[in-house]
Amino acid sequence: MIIQKTREEIELMRESALLVSKTLGMIAAEIKPGITTLHLDKLAEEFIRDHDAVPGFLGLYGCPSSILTSVNDQVVHGLPTNTIIEEGDIVSVDCGVLKNEYYGDHAYTFEIGDVAPETKKLLQVTKESLYVGIREFKMGNRVEDVGNAIQKYTEAHGYGVVRELVGHGLGKKMHEDPEMPNYGKRGRGKLFVEGMVVAIEPMINLGTKNIKQLKDGWTIVTADRKPSAHFEHDVALVNGKPELLSTFSYIYKALGIESNEENEFRSQPLVLS
Ligand code: MG
Ligand code: MG
Repeated sequence: MIIQKTREEIELMRESALLVSKTLGMIAAEIKPGITTLHLDKLAEEFIRDHDAVPGFLGLYGCPSSILTSVNDQVVHGLPTNTIIEEGDIVSVDCGVLKNEYYGDHAYTFEIGDVAPETKKLLQVTKESLYVGIREFKMGNRVEDVGNAIQKYTEAHGYGVVRELVGHGLGKKMHEDPEMPNYGKRGRGKLFVEGMVVAIEPMINLGTKNIKQLKDGWTIVTADRKPSAHFEHDVALVNGKPELLSTFSYIYKALGIESNEENEFRSQPLVLS
């Protein structure tokens, strides 16, 4: 059952989403060759608790960490470890918080220094596909319209769309209805309704769409061990249109990137605090 949120609830969810955005912005300033993903996890947990919230992933389904860090061929759910991040790596950082009883959940894939051109292109196209998907999250459309748009956009580049892991509704639970696959057929699935909030999160592989799980019981890797990218935003359906609750602006500020990619999904200007 899709749980519709009131305007007040959506504003609380915006706070949760923006705290994740800020946490990712903090990580953007810290992530570099020579540090470990375990170090980033410690920083993220402290940062979230310092902002009157609790890490959303820690303890959820038995998750041992506050962020999930997926390096290179790792797709998602990578557990932070003592492995050192190296020049040329890509690192997807997925982060969740619970604040005012509502979850925020979003993710960004960072480039560490100079990344191979084909990997850089994979990241660019995957992030573009996130917005292509969000554009379809509007009144009159159905769940698979979003997935269909993401699938078409990324498969046109020869990439593999992960099937086993999907986006989801978001609210007082981390995973609510509906499931939001990154593939599908036009006009299929549940109709979108006003006030629903979803996490849209394409997981796109440079090569095969097939994945496997490592022995740690968490980390998902590509079956051909080629790189994989992951970007995730939290979006509410407001006045029939997608309204972005999360932002990559804190990341871009830390990295010195200029972007207006989010503007079309905002009804009010974003004020960075
Ligand atoms: Mg996530
Ligand atoms: Mg998610």
